[in-house]
Amino acid sequence: MATWNIGDVSITKVLEMEKHWPFSALLPGAEEVIDDLDWLRPDFVTDEGRMKLSIHALVIESDGQTIIVDTCCGNNKDRPGAPAFDNLETDFLGELSRCGFSPTDVDVVLSTHLHVDHVGWNTQLIDGTWVPTFPNAEYLFVRPEFEHWAAEPQDYGPVFEDSVQPIIDAGLATVVEADHQITANISLELTAGHTPGHVSVVIESGNDMALITGDMTHHPVQFAHPEMASSADWRQDMSTATRFEAYKKWSDGRLVIGTHFAGRTAGRLKPVGDVWSFEVD
Ligand SMILES: [Zn+2]
Repeated sequence: MATWNIGDVSITKVLEMEKHWPFSALLPGAEEVIDDLDWLRPDFVTDEGRMKLSIHALVIESDGQTIIVDTCCGNNKDRPGAPAFDNLETDFLGELSRCGFSPTDVDVVLSTHLHVDHVGWNTQLIDGTWVPTFPNAEYLFVRPEFEHWAAEPQDYGPVFEDSVQPIIDAGLATVVEADHQITANISLELTAGHTPGHVSVVIESGNDMALITGDMTHHPVQFAHPEMASSADWRQDMSTATRFEAYKKWSDGRLVIGTHFAGRTAGRLKPVGDVWSFEVD
C-alpha cells in the first residue's frame, strides 16, 4: 500500500490491476526514446521495454472527508471496444478494504474524466441491477465532461449507461464546474484535451502541495516529450498545449501523483532544458 502525506491530507493508492502493454498501444513513438531516459526504469518501463500502466484509485482524506478519485474499470461490465477491461472480476473492493476503507465510508466520488477506466466502480451489479458502490457519497461530475458524454456514446461500451446514469437515477450526482473546490485543501484544475472537461486535482495543505494528473499524462515519458499525445486523446493539439502549460506550473516542487503511473507512482518534475524529467519520491 502506498500513502503520501501532504500537510494534514493523506492520499492512498488502491490498485485494481497493472498492465504491461507495448507503447504503441497508447503512445506511438515512445519506443524510440525510452532507452535515452534512464529514470523511467524500473518503475515505469519493463525490462523488455513495455509500458507499465497501473489502474488504481486514489483515496484522499481531508477535513474528515473521504474522497475517492477515479474508480477504475469495475466488474461485470460489457466493454466490447476495450477487451482488456471487458467483464472483469477483480478484487478491487477487497483491496479497498485492505487499505482501510469501506465503500460506506466514502463521502465524495470524483472522476477526472468519464472514460471507461475512471468510472467503473461507481456502480456494481447486484441482482442484475447497477447500483451505486458508494451509497453515502456525493458523486461529482464536471460540467463540460458530463455534458459531452451524456450526448456522445463511448467506443468502449455502454460506459455512461452502466456507470453514470444509475448514479443520476439514485439522486447521488452533482454537476460541478471545472474549478470546483471540494474541501479547503482540494480543488480541481481544468486540463482539457484528453477529453473535453478533463480535470486534474490540486491538494494544498500548509506549505505542501500535490497534484493528481488524471490522463492528461498517461505515462512519465510524456514529461520528457510533452508533444507526445496519447492515441486516446480527444484533441491531440489541445492535450499537447495543456501538457506544456501544466508542466511549467507543476515543476514548482510539488508532488505529482500519476493516475496511471506504476511502481512508486509519485515524484517531482525537474526542468531539463525546455522539457522535464521525473524524480520518483
Ligand atoms: Zn485512463
